[in-house]
Amino acid sequence: MAHIIDGKKIAGSIKELLKQEVQSLKSQGLSPGLATLLVGNNPASQIYVKNKHRACQEVGIASFDYHLPEMASLEQVLAAVEELNRNEKVHAILVQLPLPSQVDSHRVLESILPQKDADGFHPYNLGRLLSAKDKKELTQKDSVIPLPCTPHGIMALLESTDQSISGKQAVVIGRSVIVGKPVAALLLAANATVTVAHSQTKNLEECCAQADILVAAIGKSKFVTASMVKPGAVVIDVGINRDGEGKIWGDVDFESVKEKAGWITPVPGGVGPMTIVMLLKNTVELARGYRRK
Ligand code: NAD
Repeated sequence: MAHIIDGKKIAGSIKELLKQEVQSLKSQGLSPGLATLLVGNNPASQIYVKNKHRACQEVGIASFDYHLPEMASLEQVLAAVEELNRNEKVHAILVQLPLPSQVDSHRVLESILPQKDADGFHPYNLGRLLSAKDKKELTQKDSVIPLPCTPHGIMALLESTDQSISGKQAVVIGRSVIVGKPVAALLLAANATVTVAHSQTKNLEECCAQADILVAAIGKSKFVTASMVKPGAVVIDVGINRDGEGKIWGDVDFESVKEKAGWITPVPGGVGPMTIVMLLKNTVELARGYRRK
């Protein structure tokens, strides 16, 4: 039976540390601020944005809520980002994805100042992530690279186990820019041997069964079954899939896989809480970087 990696608890302790750090920054006259920009009325996005503001409140980060209508043009969205780029109280900007189809999300993400890039999705920051030689370079205190929040949270969960990452075989299922690709880059920086599998991968089951570390970011309920898992592996389930009754399921068949894996994250309560806490961490680090300028 696998050890359960308790993302909620780990996120809670990081939050406590951030709370202290925010207090200390405030006592030095710097109040970290995060702005969210939501375009349209996607119900899931509205909930995500609300949760991010609540999390900011919990640690004392100032949060600014910007909302544009569903029919907003690209120019209107770019103008809103420009305003936030100029706002001195805002140290981190998050554009809630997905954007409505008339708005080119690449153009919008590229318009955020890299030093205010809360999600780490700006091509400049993704490039810095890819060009970092190792983990040390990624976490240099004097030059902040905001890391994409979910992948950063996944790495913290892996580090919470007593398993080393260096030299391990890691398989990431999924190649999105939000999860799959950056988590592969982070695992590589931590010296894992990384395979990125995706919808066109042949022999997926055999490939996954070689993995000491298996990260599932597919978006398909219970996709990873016990036959795809190496005994004792660390299994990280990123999936958030809602069924007809609104219940949330991961990409991993938790009940069968927990009997075979060595470590496993639950859904909910695994990766999800880590994503938000890493957004708070990015905000604090970007604010600190702002002060250094
Ligand atoms: P995405 O749709 O952008 O990417 C899915 C990936 O899965 C693709 O790269 C695709 O190639 C791969 N894939 C699809 N079918 C496959 C198959 N049959 N075999 C192998 N690979 C297959 O999704 P995403 O944004 O990366 O998100 C993935 C999941 O993670 C979703 O459920 C999403 O809701 C969840 N998610 C959770 C968090 C969190 O905080 N917990 C954050 C982001 C995403």
